[in-house]
Amino acid sequence: MAIQVAVNGYGTIGKRVADAVTLQPDMELVGVAKTRPNHEATLAVSKGYPLYAAVADRIDAFAEAGIDIAGGVEELVAAADVVVDACPSGIGAQNKPMYDEHDTPALYQGGEDAGVVDVSFNARSNFERAIGADHVRVVSCNTTGLSRLLAPLEEAYGVEKARVTLVRRGGDPAQSGRGPINDVLPDPVELPSHHGPDVNTIFPELDIDTLGLKVPATLMHTHSVNVTLDAAPDAEAVAALLDDQRRTFLIPAASGIDGAGAIKEYAMDRGRPRGDVWENCVWRESVSMEGRDLYLFQAIHQESDVVPENVDAIRAVSGAADAAESMATTDEALGIGL
Ligand code: NAD
Repeated sequence: MAIQVAVNGYGTIGKRVADAVTLQPDMELVGVAKTRPNHEATLAVSKGYPLYAAVADRIDAFAEAGIDIAGGVEELVAAADVVVDACPSGIGAQNKPMYDEHDTPALYQGGEDAGVVDVSFNARSNFERAIGADHVRVVSCNTTGLSRLLAPLEEAYGVEKARVTLVRRGGDPAQSGRGPINDVLPDPVELPSHHGPDVNTIFPELDIDTLGLKVPATLMHTHSVNVTLDAAPDAEAVAALLDDQRRTFLIPAASGIDGAGAIKEYAMDRGRPRGDVWENCVWRESVSMEGRDLYLFQAIHQESDVVPENVDAIRAVSGAADAAESMATTDEALGIGL
């Protein structure tokens, strides 16, 4: 029988995960829970997703907006084999007792504290650790992007130390209240940014320093990466290794893709839903070796790179597949691979 999946929190991440679940051959979407009868609630109804009220005393608001709901969030959680919590940061921790009460394994997102869960998850790096776990955190967009990059480098060459500067988008395109509007902010100004310690939730032994900046952009994050390897492969070999990774797009030199705008345009031209880019986008020309030091630039689509990871984490907690099977199924169903 297909894995019954609930999505609690139907915003930027939740609506993408819900769509991805409906495309999987071995999953069924039981429903999604929302707090407000906004345009995303209408979207869920128009897609035929059973809609549940996340907050009991707001049920009337849905009725007033003319939106039929299937019930309250507790009923949704009770009906599911796995719940994907895609609520704003910190709300997942508040929801945890509800998932425990219904004995429903739960996935949380990167905004939650790592201490809330048994395992922080990235499919390429540590799928096995989440098998059968009750509380799993799919790490943030940036940590997902770094884990996907570091896992093959560690396996193939060994990593002595990673140093990454993260040039972060100020907000998602719909977050009109975020900034900066006309500035470049060291954020945080002190070192390290939280990303290095977050990568250590996936690779506990890895030596990594990270710095963060915030810039007036909404499309993607950009990482400036320097990794000192234990070995000294040539740049060709590293590029070939990265090109082999199923969730990495090595941007060809001849493509003319010079930034996040062109990547998004390419994704839209390829017919990607919402212009999503599930893959790490590494500029081939940037992949350089100086002795044992690897340098490269990669772009990360913050709104979508965690979506296939959530799908894989559903299979991991259900014990439904191993890492290779799950990633292959997810990627084929979504059409991953640019
Ligand atoms: P969002 O604000 O776009 O969506 C969250 C949704 O949850 C909204 O629709 C909100 O109304 C709803 N909600 C609020 N309280 C709720 C409750 N009690 N019960 C059910 N629903 C509730 O947020 P998002 O960007 O999708 O982020 C969700 C999580 O994903 C956060 O942990 C965030 O850190 C993480 N994340 C976000 C991004 C990104 O770039 N947007 C990337 C990776 C991870």
